Amino acid sequence: MRIFLIYPGLVEGFDSYRKGHDWFNHGVGIISSILKREGHSVEYLDCRRMKGWSEVDKTIDVTPFDLAMISVATVDFDPAKRIARKIKQKDRSLKVMVGGPHPTLMTEETATVADFDYIFTHESEVTLPSVLKNLSDTPRVIKGAMPKVLDELLFVDRSLAPEGETPWFHDLAKPYFAITASRGCLYQCTFCQPAERAVFGNTVRKRSVDNILDELTALADHYGMRSFMIHDDCFTQYYPWVEEFCKKKQRRGLTQPFACQSRADIICRRPDLMQRLYDAGLRWVLIGFESGSDRVLAFLKKNTTVSQNLEAAHICKRIGIKIFANYMFGLPTETKEEMSATVKMIRAIKPEHCSPSVFTPAPGSELYEYCRDSGLILITSSEGYRRSSDSTGKIKGVDYRYVQSMICRSLGPVRGMYLRLLLLKGRMTRGSRRPVQGHSD
Ligand code: SF4
Repeated sequence: MRIFLIYPGLVEGFDSYRKGHDWFNHGVGIISSILKREGHSVEYLDCRRMKGWSEVDKTIDVTPFDLAMISVATVDFDPAKRIARKIKQKDRSLKVMVGGPHPTLMTEETATVADFDYIFTHESEVTLPSVLKNLSDTPRVIKGAMPKVLDELLFVDRSLAPEGETPWFHDLAKPYFAITASRGCLYQCTFCQPAERAVFGNTVRKRSVDNILDELTALADHYGMRSFMIHDDCFTQYYPWVEEFCKKKQRRGLTQPFACQSRADIICRRPDLMQRLYDAGLRWVLIGFESGSDRVLAFLKKNTTVSQNLEAAHICKRIGIKIFANYMFGLPTETKEEMSATVKMIRAIKPEHCSPSVFTPAPGSELYEYCRDSGLILITSSEGYRRSSDSTGKIKGVDYRYVQSMICRSLGPVRGMYLRLLLLKGRMTRGSRRPVQGHSD
C-alpha cells in the first residue's frame, strides 16, 4: 500500500522547522519503521517544513497514496481536520486514518469528523500491521494493543530526520537526537494524569539498557550523534535501571553528553544517583518545579514541596548538572500571592534555562475535568491548547496580564524585559518548548 504519513506539528506554526522547532515525532518514526518492514511505501509530510496551507495542499495534490495517516496531538486537531478535508477534495476514495494522543483521549470527539475514515487509538506497533492487511474489514475505531516487551520493537525511523533535532540546551552539540527509553509514569500530577496512563497504561514499561545503548550506538555510528536527550516522562524513577545505564554507557565508550527529565523528590532522595548520572554524561536535567506554593503543589498532586524544589536545585548545582526549569502560572484557584511565590522560588533556584508556561487544561487530565465541570474552560479552538508564554484565555478567573507579568519577572531583568517588549509589540513568537501535552517535568 502507498501510505502518506502526515505530522501537522503546527504548535509553533508554519515554517517553524527551520527555526528550531524540529523535535522528532517518535510516534510517526515508529510507524514509518513498521510500514517499511511490512513492505508498504512511505511518503512523509511534516507541515512544520511548509510555508503555509497552499504548500501543504500542493504536496497532497502531487503525492500519490492510498492511505493518509495523520498524527494528531490536541493542538493539531483543527489542522488535522483541514488536512483530511483537503485529501477528500482531492479524491473521496482516498482513506484517512488518524492516531496519536488526541484520538486516544478524545475518541468520541474525533469520531464526529466524517473525513476521518479510521480512528486508531493507543499504541500502534502490535495492531497496525494486521489492520493494514485487512483495511476494508476494519471497524472505524481501532484500539491498538499494548506492546509488552519494548525491546521487541523496531527502532524509530531516523531517515525521516537524519540531521537530528535542535537541542533545547544551548551547550549540547549537534547532531542531537531524542530517544525514549520507557513508556509510562508512576506519578499522579493532576494536570497530566490520568491522560498519560490512558495512553500508556498503569505500569511503566522499560527497554533493557542494552537495547537503549544499541540505539544510541547506531545513532552515533550512522548519524554522528554528539549529544542526546532521554525524553521519558521521568527517566530516573527506577534507580537500578538508571545505575545500569550509567555503568554500561561508560563501558561502551559512549561519551556523548545528554539530558533527561527527573523530579525534585527523586533528586533529593538520591543525590548519589544524580552524581552517577553526571559521571555518565548527564549535563542537563529537566525538573517540573511547577509552583512556589506548597498549597498549589498539593492541588496538583505533584508530591513534591517547595523546599524539595530548592534542595534539588542545590544538589544539581553542586554536582554541575544544569537545570531546565518547568513551571506554570494561571492555575485554577491559584492566587496572585502564590504566583509571586513561584517567581521568588525560580529567582532563588537560578536555573540555567527557564521554561514557564501558562496552565492549559489538557484533555484527559484530572484538571481538565475539574475545569470543564466547573465551567471554567474558555478555549474554543485546538490552537488554544498551546501553552507558550504569550497564551491567554485558557480558563475563567485568571488575570492573564498578571500571568504574563509574572512570567517576565521569573525570567530575570534581561530576558524578562525582552519578553515584555515582544508582548507589548504583539510580536511574541510561538515559544513553547513542550510539544507533549500534559508533561511538565
Ligand atoms: S507530569 Fe510528569 S511526573 Fe507528573 S504524572 Fe505526568 S509524566 Fe508523571
